[in-house]
Amino acid sequence: MQAGDPAGMYTRLLWPALGLTFCAGLYRLKWRVWESQVRITMARLVMKFGGTSVADLDRIRNVARHVKREVDAGNDVAVVVSAMAGRTDELVRWCREAAMLHDAREYDAVVASGEQVTAGLLALVLEGLGVNARSWQGWQLPILTDDAHASARILDINGAELIKRFKEHRQVAVIAGFQGIHQATGRLTTLGRGGSDTSAVAIAAAIKADRCDIYTDVDGVYTSDPRVVPKARRLDKIAFEEMLEFASLGAKVMQVRSVELGMVHNVRIFVRSSFEKPEDIDPRAQPKGTLICDEADIVEQQVVTGIAFSKDEAQISIRRVQDKPGVAAAIFGPLADDNINVDMIVQNVSADGATTDLTFTVPAADYERARNTIAKAKAAIGYDRLDGATDVAKVSVIGIGMRSHAGVAAMAFKALSERNINIRAITTSEIKFSVLIDAAYTELAVRTLHSLYGLDKA
Ligand code: ADP
Ligand code: ASP
Ligand code: MG
Repeated sequence: MQAGDPAGMYTRLLWPALGLTFCAGLYRLKWRVWESQVRITMARLVMKFGGTSVADLDRIRNVARHVKREVDAGNDVAVVVSAMAGRTDELVRWCREAAMLHDAREYDAVVASGEQVTAGLLALVLEGLGVNARSWQGWQLPILTDDAHASARILDINGAELIKRFKEHRQVAVIAGFQGIHQATGRLTTLGRGGSDTSAVAIAAAIKADRCDIYTDVDGVYTSDPRVVPKARRLDKIAFEEMLEFASLGAKVMQVRSVELGMVHNVRIFVRSSFEKPEDIDPRAQPKGTLICDEADIVEQQVVTGIAFSKDEAQISIRRVQDKPGVAAAIFGPLADDNINVDMIVQNVSADGATTDLTFTVPAADYERARNTIAKAKAAIGYDRLDGATDVAKVSVIGIGMRSHAGVAAMAFKALSERNINIRAITTSEIKFSVLIDAAYTELAVRTLHSLYGLDKA
């Protein structure tokens, strides 16, 4: 073969070229196998960000970096966002100003708009960071609900479309929380205040997420509201049942329905802070936060887990009501018909055998309505006078351990009396008890009970 012979040159180049192609093919194959193995071990996550976490563009950029952190770790991510802090309050106010007795369907059309803005903005910022993302509104997914406008329940969510997009495009879904659609009427619905938590848990159930992370302005669930009790401790874990009580007794860190859904569908809910810098989070370390889990997963069960309180209560007392069969039905029947939830009920033992006093609580927002309902039913009930108070608060002590411990409530009554705090009403159940007191003593009562049950941090 002579030098400069083109055929010889091709032969000389052919073997190395074939070798290189073979190596590249092998490398690509290895990469695919590695990638598929890693993707099997990677997670599908829902990340929910509340109002303070998306309060302005800077905070939305911070949220986007949290999302990118999870995407870069190889996870499939659906994000659920609330409206910017204060926005829903403003929209609600506008509805009231526009028409005091507004149509709930139009109220929903107005208040659902806050989440639409944040979903779009977050998708924009994510795209800017090079993350493939798109926004979804409730009706687009769709998130189907019933037609109980302003407090609708989720009936069904199309999770398959999101999963398809994870698989085909690794696309992050940015979903507007709090909103859905009623299929038959095609009207927008909202899920009640704090409803983005419920959107997030429902989506987690629909896409069979490995975890639903609730990012908020505190780094977990505490033994009591850390803004009121500086000595409150963060709980590593809390049982679904306890969280349900916490939420329904005033701790607004999670909406009640979201906890119910999590319990039914066994969603791993993890409450954590969005204020932690994404760059400071070590992806290999256990993140700081609270896992809401089954009771069986909690090793060290305390007797009392925490103290909740609510100032959204009102008390109504019916004086000198007839002490005869059928009176309770005459009072609580019309209240139920008017969709007013009655919570604590106390009936005094009749002194004269003919009349008695009956006290109960309703949500503060329903106070005037409840008084009207009772006044309208006066002839059927038969009573002397109607008294009421809105400056009351309900303080509740919660703990699964109370099931097997007697005397837990008695300790509280003694401690409160030593502080001169008068108890207006009491209710108890298996894992909690509540006392109704003057609102002015709320903080004192909560802190007193927090110390009493050994919940203060060292
Ligand atoms: P988001 O806007 O993220 O949905 P929320 O304001 O609805 O946040 O809920 C978080 C707030 O819940 C906290 O700022 C805290 O004051 C309050 N909170 C009440 N009780 C508790 C508790 N036991 N643990 C943690 N936070 C609590
Ligand atoms: N933006 C709604 C509200 O303020 C829903 C939510 O934040 O979860 O109630
Ligand atoms: Mg909330």
